[in-house]
Amino acid sequence: MAASATAPPKPTPPKLNPVRVPIPEEAPAVRVQDFRTVLHAYSREEAVLEAKRCIQCRRPWCVEACPITQDCREYIRLIAAEDFDGAARVTLRDDPLATTLCKVCYHYCEDYCVVAKKGVPIAIRHLKRAALDYGRSDLAYVPSAPKGQRVAVVGAGPAGLMAAWELGVRGYGVTVFEREPEVGGLMLTIPSYRMTDDDLRRDLERFRDLDVRFERSNRVGVDTPVEGLLHDGYAAVVLALGTPAHRTLGIPGEELPGVVPALGFLKAVHAGESVPLGREIVVIGGGDVAMDSVRTALRKSPGARVTLVYRRERAEMPADAEEVHGAEQEQVRFLFRKAPVEIVGRPQVTGLVVRSVELGPPDAGGRRTPTPVVGSEETIPCDTVIVAVGQKAELDGMPAALDLKITSQGWPEGKGQGHATSTPGVFAVGGKSVVYAMGAAMETVAELDAYLASKRGGSAAPRPDPLGGPNPFHLPPGYTSPIRG
Ligand SMILES: Cc1cc2nc3c(=O)[nH]c(=O)nc-3n(C[C@H](O)[C@H](O)[C@H](O)COP(=O)(O)OP(=O)(O)OC[C@H]3O[C@@H](n4cnc5c(N)ncnc54)[C@H](O)[C@@H]3O)c2cc1C
Ligand code: SF4
Ligand code: SF4
Repeated sequence: MAASATAPPKPTPPKLNPVRVPIPEEAPAVRVQDFRTVLHAYSREEAVLEAKRCIQCRRPWCVEACPITQDCREYIRLIAAEDFDGAARVTLRDDPLATTLCKVCYHYCEDYCVVAKKGVPIAIRHLKRAALDYGRSDLAYVPSAPKGQRVAVVGAGPAGLMAAWELGVRGYGVTVFEREPEVGGLMLTIPSYRMTDDDLRRDLERFRDLDVRFERSNRVGVDTPVEGLLHDGYAAVVLALGTPAHRTLGIPGEELPGVVPALGFLKAVHAGESVPLGREIVVIGGGDVAMDSVRTALRKSPGARVTLVYRRERAEMPADAEEVHGAEQEQVRFLFRKAPVEIVGRPQVTGLVVRSVELGPPDAGGRRTPTPVVGSEETIPCDTVIVAVGQKAELDGMPAALDLKITSQGWPEGKGQGHATSTPGVFAVGGKSVVYAMGAAMETVAELDAYLASKRGGSAAPRPDPLGGPNPFHLPPGYTSPIRG
């Protein structure tokens, strides 16, 4: 008998709900009065509603776009099922700085969320915060059986902390050398209306059972020679030096009183030190540090006029759109297509001379080349200039034999596989954001572990479950390949 010709009904594709559950936000006029939190948490109910918008894509674009392969699809599924403990566990399993990242990550995952095609992507980062707020998040990471080898990590920013965690859960002993008295790297310059020291403290508290020790105020290369570390009982070294110094504009007047490097400004505010600011403040730059500077200046000098000067257009600003929007809401004045020429005024700054800029055709990187228009100079009156045009590395005492590459954004890294340097056993790594630095460190430790395992006569295994469960790290179902921006 012939088989029935009736095909089974096709499953109905899930309908996309394009409207995000609004993230509660402090009113701009209120929040600029101090450093109170700008974004508030979802309630449990709001979180569940938002999680239910996720269609649980078969191919997890969001996970592929996350530099640390956080299984966000899974924690969203668990929140939708009201299993907040399960969601917190998934979050912490993949992300040792989760309490920090749920506040400051630039959420690359959301850029690739399929819901963005029809409306606003799932609030993946904010749902991580809900997982930790309502699920059990006071867990402790569990080390594997000790390997009997110690690794030196230099630098306690996100790359160094991720390397320490990856090594610690694999059973290595780790000593983290940090030149500053505090652990955190550039995360310590992020203003407290976005994240607090307590967020980072809660993340590091979960490291308590790992064999990770911190040697603060020890500048490797100056206080401790790099070459010495390998002879001092360390089996390998990870240099996670980041970009602790600020870049300058190279224009006349930069040495005047009233000109402040953004990094020093944000660090001082973070440390609770007083920073003299005027009433007409100009910030130069278009990145995230510039956004933090304008918004911090507003809070530190109530009633002051704060102006951002940027040489390209708004659409070309490298800053996170959320931060630009926040600054606009807070009444920061934006001046686009203006290039700084000179800072004037003696003994105190009285103005910034700028030249208008024409944008030419896109360069190799797709960005339009700014060309200053001769004769278009004007002076913007101001008494304070904050320079936020980037950061750079400080490599004093780093041996030339490492043959480090300096990336366009300033951090040093090794040129080999997994960021290995030319010196066997020494790796160098960093990244353009917290989670990118962590992702790079993840790759480095995989390579480093393989290197040390081969020296022990074996081979490396995937990262064990850092929370003591039976399943080692594996990619989630449907994962194809990483998406990196
Ligand atoms: C103001 C500001 C705001 C930012 N906001 C965000 C944000 O919201 N979200 C985001 O994702 N990213 C943000 N970033 C970027 C992010 O902080 C960096 O990309 C990230 O910290 C880089 O991590 P890292 O570990 O490579 O380097 P770093 O964070 O620079 O850490 C390097 C560490 O190494 C130490 N060190 C350097 N040399 C030595 C030495 N010789 N011996 C011992 N220790 C040494 C340094 O003191 C530092 O602690 C921000 C950056 C700034 C400046
Ligand atoms: S760490 Fe950042 S990119 Fe990764 S899932 Fe979380 S918010 Fe998204
Ligand atoms: S891409 Fe968006 S909709 Fe798809 S699984 Fe990830 S969060 Fe859910």
